[in-house]
Order: sequence, then C-alpha cells, then structure tokens
Amino acid sequence: MAETTIFSKIINGEIPCEKLHEDELCLAFNDIASQAPVHFLVIPKKPLVSLCECLEEDRDLLGHLLLIGKNIAKSKQLKNWRTVINTGEESGQTVFHLHIHFLAGRKMSWPPG
Ligand code: 5GP
Repeated sequence: MAETTIFSKIINGEIPCEKLHEDELCLAFNDIASQAPVHFLVIPKKPLVSLCECLEEDRDLLGHLLLIGKNIAKSKQLKNWRTVINTGEESGQTVFHLHIHFLAGRKMSWPPG
C-alpha cells in the first residue's frame, strides 16, 4: 500500500484539483504541470504504489481506470492520445500512488525519452 502522497491528499480533498471525474473507485483530474494541451491523470482511490504492486484482484479496477480515461478523452472529442504509466523511479515515476497519464493535443514523438 502507498504511503500518504500528494494524490491521497487530492482524493480526500485536502489539496484541490481540477476534477474531471469521480466515482467510488477512482478520480480523474488535470495534471498540474501539463506536458501537452490535454494532460490528465486517472488514479485509483485504492492506495496502490504502482502497477508493480497490482494483483489479480485489481484486474477490474485497472480496466475501469483505462475505460474512464477513454471516456474522458472521447468527451473531449479526442481521437488521438497517449497513455502512460510510469512504474518506478527510473521510469520517471515521481508520485508513488498509481496513476495513468492521458496526453493529447500535440504530435507525440517515439521513442519516449
Ligand atoms: P509521474 O512522474 O509520477 O508519472 O507523474 C506524476 C504527475 O503528477 C506529474 O505529471 C505531476 O505534474 C503531477 N502532479 C504532481 N503533484 C500534483 C498536484 O498537486 N496536483 C496535480 N493536479 N498534479 C500533480
């Protein structure tokens, strides 16, 4: 389980966010430091540290996070976007509460840095 992070404070309302969606399982909000014209995060309310800690029991939750992100992207009329999950410090993960980035609105390059 994750230690208290900035995202658990966002979930419990201690820190404000630009909320896009909330349900009993997850929260979606705009990234505070957008790396693209559209950049939002979908996070589980369950305090999972990263994808590495997910278990079989998290299968439905993981699917839910992706589908909620897809629904938000489609509600923004997006047809192209990039989905990123950084797992571990070397991958670029800085907040140790699982989150899925959705980025769009500009041409993306490959491979990512
Ligand atoms: P990571 O680098 O862990 O994959 O992504 C963490 C993301 O969380 C970063 O893109 C960062 O800008 C975002 N972030 C960090 N702190 C806050 C915050 O207080 N509010 C919001 N909305 N986003 C945050």
